[in-house]
Amino acid sequence: MATWVYPTEGREVTSGFNPARKHPVTGVVKAHTGTDFRAASGTPLRAACDGTVVKSLFAKGSPGNYVRIDVGGGVWIGYSHLSERRVSKGDRVSCGQIIGLAGATGSATAAHLHFEVSVDGVKIDPVPHLEANVVGVALLVEKQPPPSLEDDMPTLVNSPTFGTGLLDGGVLTGIGDQATVDAWAAAGAKVVPISDGDFMRLVRRSTSTWLLFCPPEKGGRGFAVWSGGQAVGLGDAGTVESFKAAGVPVVEVAGADFDRFTAV
Ligand SMILES: [Zn+2]
Repeated sequence: MATWVYPTEGREVTSGFNPARKHPVTGVVKAHTGTDFRAASGTPLRAACDGTVVKSLFAKGSPGNYVRIDVGGGVWIGYSHLSERRVSKGDRVSCGQIIGLAGATGSATAAHLHFEVSVDGVKIDPVPHLEANVVGVALLVEKQPPPSLEDDMPTLVNSPTFGTGLLDGGVLTGIGDQATVDAWAAAGAKVVPISDGDFMRLVRRSTSTWLLFCPPEKGGRGFAVWSGGQAVGLGDAGTVESFKAAGVPVVEVAGADFDRFTAV
């Protein structure tokens, strides 16, 4: 399954998918065929999935600056009202890559992202689709392009036993895998080797709450709630839904990683 991320870092919906909405500008009752995410002008917008840009244009009417990405399997995703487009037709984009900046071009009352998902030519509600496909911090880290050396970006740390962690502002905010390390190192970005003891100190200092999820194809350990540097309980499939609804990252891990983090 392809990896997906939210198109905006904030996930606040200001106007949902609605087959019969009264348009705020025209007053006409018309389907709202996407989801509006809160996004101030200039907010980076990310490719929600790997794909190919099939449209990058300015349309005077409703969408304004518009980007459409074909992500394969009969699915495309669309971004409207951008203040700036950063991709061109024909570009390959990676999941998490910045494709433009939010704005209020076209028919919009204020800056926001109007985000659409089309499956086999039919626009569907993007939010359940995102919730079903976004699996949290670890995969987001893996799929993000490595930072350039000029960027003041988070640091990867790598220990012999615990593997890879993403440090942001001195706090462990995610876990990755060897592919993450290789990609960052190849780009010349900082990957800091540390001891297991130092890694555990970072883990203990982490205040983040994650739901670790080890699916059957990765070893089938199930679910564990990780908070404040330790596993604090086990969950079930219902936990995943409630955690996603609350915006808590659901981090998909392999069996070995699940065992290491729940044994801590
Ligand atoms: Zn909209």
